Amino acid sequence: QGTLVVQVRVAPLTEEYILLLADDRTEIARTEAVRNDFVANVSHELKTPVGAISLLAEALESAPEDQATVRRFASRMMTESARLAALVQDIIELSRLQGKDVARVALAVDINAVIAEAVDRTRLPAQSKNITLAVGASQPALVYGDQGQLVTALRNLIDNAVRYSPDNTQVGVGLQVIDGVVAVSISDQGDGLTPQEQDRVFERFYRVDAARSRHTGGTGLGLSIVKHIVSNHGGEVTLWSAPKMGSTFTVRLPQLSPSTSDGGTHHRAE
Ligand code: ADP
Repeated sequence: QGTLVVQVRVAPLTEEYILLLADDRTEIARTEAVRNDFVANVSHELKTPVGAISLLAEALESAPEDQATVRRFASRMMTESARLAALVQDIIELSRLQGKDVARVALAVDINAVIAEAVDRTRLPAQSKNITLAVGASQPALVYGDQGQLVTALRNLIDNAVRYSPDNTQVGVGLQVIDGVVAVSISDQGDGLTPQEQDRVFERFYRVDAARSRHTGGTGLGLSIVKHIVSNHGGEVTLWSAPKMGSTFTVRLPQLSPSTSDGGTHHRAE
């Protein structure tokens, strides 16, 4: 039997190398902690509607004679089920967006079409609060990406602007194209956010007022989804706000100049 000699180059244990190793471990531990945190948060969030549905079902089982009570419980069960469905949908959407190997279809997209569709889908909730959606002038601007995802991002921002604003106010949607950057701003006349709240709003499940968010159908994941979509498109989303002065969320995306766009289909692996 011959002897197999394997030469292994061992990196010298310099102080720098040890620090690098330690840093790596901290990073792994941090990723692990974030993941565990997410699982814990998801379980907590799912337990609320599931618990409510099962309590209501129990109450219905010992069915009171009173038809009005039966109807009220059934209607609350439907509300809780809808909440559960929205939550599950957002959790799936977010984990899909975070996945490393999601291939998405990317095309030259007219940002005006994205704005128009997002505004269209938020008309109903705006009308129900008598909120005017003031859309600024359009101008030619192309970006590169997935139209459906971009609509979801803008729609989440307009939806929030409407949900966190008082009745009879205005939500503005503006477009600017400067130096190869396409910027879409969504401004509201709502309560605004303190600097501490602004630091946290893009975190998963963070809500300034959990009861209000749940009441208006929020899942606490909307802004995390926006952030992922925008960064997957090579852009960024920023927030300007001050208490009692409303909020402005701005999405900036790289402009696709018409000469470089061939309008063809590209599949890009994330
Ligand atoms: P939610 O589903 O609760 O709306 P989001 O991730 O979309 O979750 O937003 C997180 C929190 O940020 C909201 O619960 C709300 O407190 C705050 N928020 C988001 N958009 C606005 C806004 N336009 N004005 C004031 N507060 C906002």
